[in-house]
Amino acid sequence: MNSSLTRRDSCRLCGSKHLELALPIAASPIADAYVPRERLNEEQDLYPLDLYLCTECGHVQNIDVVNPEILFRDYIYVTSSSMGLVEHYRRYADDVVSQFSVEPGALALEIGSNDGSLLNFFKTKGLKVLGVDPARRIAEEATARGVPTLPEFFGSKLAESLRKEHGPATIVAANNVFAHADNLADIVQGIHTMLADDGVFIFEVSYLPDIVDRFLFDTVYHEHVSYHSIIPLAKFFEKLGMQLFDVQRISSKGGSIRGFAQRAAQGRHPVTSRVTELIAEENRRGFNQSAIYRAYDAAISARKAAVAKVVDEARARGKTVAGYGASTTVTTLMWHFDLAQKLDFLVDDNPLKHGLFAPKCHLPVLPSEELYTRRPDYVLILAWNFAEPIMKRHQRYIAEGGTFVIPLPELKVVS
Ligand SMILES: [Zn+2]
Repeated sequence: MNSSLTRRDSCRLCGSKHLELALPIAASPIADAYVPRERLNEEQDLYPLDLYLCTECGHVQNIDVVNPEILFRDYIYVTSSSMGLVEHYRRYADDVVSQFSVEPGALALEIGSNDGSLLNFFKTKGLKVLGVDPARRIAEEATARGVPTLPEFFGSKLAESLRKEHGPATIVAANNVFAHADNLADIVQGIHTMLADDGVFIFEVSYLPDIVDRFLFDTVYHEHVSYHSIIPLAKFFEKLGMQLFDVQRISSKGGSIRGFAQRAAQGRHPVTSRVTELIAEENRRGFNQSAIYRAYDAAISARKAAVAKVVDEARARGKTVAGYGASTTVTTLMWHFDLAQKLDFLVDDNPLKHGLFAPKCHLPVLPSEELYTRRPDYVLILAWNFAEPIMKRHQRYIAEGGTFVIPLPELKVVS
């Protein structure tokens, strides 16, 4: 396609070349590349999104990787702009400090620290903090606000110089980085280097079984390259001298895990039954086999057909159809369900998106109040995870004769 794309021929976790197509996902433009009017003439490429299963270790992954310089250097997503996430991190810091009795003065390092929201809570608890995040502007701003942040990609080499300069870290945290990074082995080697003997590595990442069970395939986009489950992850840590000793399921992003790992040789935390139980459950349901993904693909296709039927019929009758939502997940859903050409415009509640145009298809993004001036006959809720609050906020749209269509997890038409 072009030089901004590379294709792996081996598994990101175990290095095996036994990769098979597990879940085809339609190629899409970069999910977050909503553009202003003055950039509408710039070409936006499509990049593959198909998910592959490693038949050796069971890891599910994209093998087509968009150059991270393109994806992350100009990253605009800021943690503190995400509702609920700051509160989540406040509790996260409380939990970690009390669970592991972390003493004031200990070092907490965060990889992919964004605007420093999490580290700031560790700082108020008396910890020394250090962030690493390649998004230059966000790193600068975090540093200016008192959370020292290096504008770098974290890896084994950087870890060696950080360990010399700052000493070992009692806490290393990485949230969603495990989904984003192509070079996970180098990152985990770096974590091993940084961790104190009794240190704990904590990470949060979307959980593959939740992505399958809850139809979260629209969380597959180019910033994410790995969709983690415990069986391959535990083996991966082991190979790199680390041990996954605990896993908690959490509700972030529709279904995630918080994992805890330590240096295998020195760590003192016993492996909890939660780890062994999740591994047994993954084995029982076959998340490391291709059959479950074939069934998932068929279920997604059935829903795509159901949505197409409603939208195509509406258009055939000359009705207007708007989409609700202008996020990264919306891009994947629009392209996978082939909706880009079937919608008239998008609305979104985030003022930062207003006036922008959706990636490549260039549907305009308008404020949701436009539902009352443009009065589309149908509103397809692309941000379907938020269907309930959206419909609650726009009861007037229904009262005035409008129809909401909710595409997932089951098609619902509300008028
Ligand atoms: Zn593998």
